[in-house]
Amino acid sequence: MEELNLEIYNCKKCRLWQDAKHGVPGEGPLNAIVMIVGQNPGADEDELGKPFVGRAGKYLTKTLLEFGIKREEVFITNIVKHISPKNRKPLDDEVRACLPYLIAQIRIIKPQIIVLLGASAKETPRIDGIEYVQIIHPSAAMRFTKMRAKFREQIAGLAKRLQQN
Ligand code: SF4
Repeated sequence: MEELNLEIYNCKKCRLWQDAKHGVPGEGPLNAIVMIVGQNPGADEDELGKPFVGRAGKYLTKTLLEFGIKREEVFITNIVKHISPKNRKPLDDEVRACLPYLIAQIRIIKPQIIVLLGASAKETPRIDGIEYVQIIHPSAAMRFTKMRAKFREQIAGLAKRLQQN
């Protein structure tokens, strides 16, 4: 994983590295049962080089913990490893260029469950033997009451699923 992270920090396979302060490979234990995948790092993540450390990330961490899931126990990453200009949605060619890193991470970690946040669900490749769970993005859950209720329900479902392990 360290080698892969180094590759990401030095990667120039698409244009996104140009405006970024840091690559954000992701973090978490290499034997994580759950992997959480978002779409791309935002400004706080770019600043610190860490995934999901902004408001949405903190809300995700807090909600996971409410249902007994510690953030340190899950591997958190994004499909695209550098921030986009003005935080726009990553373009198809950028996603294509970056996807091999996510696939390599999945192959190293071999999670039982991959939780897909919001739009990341469409772009994440499905690998046999892994259960995929799509949930509302925490930033949408923070903004809209109805989505918040659904989001909490989905995290509760994930926690229940993990207890069955
Ligand atoms: S976004 Fe991905 S493919 Fe593009 S430069 Fe960064 S690490 Fe490389």
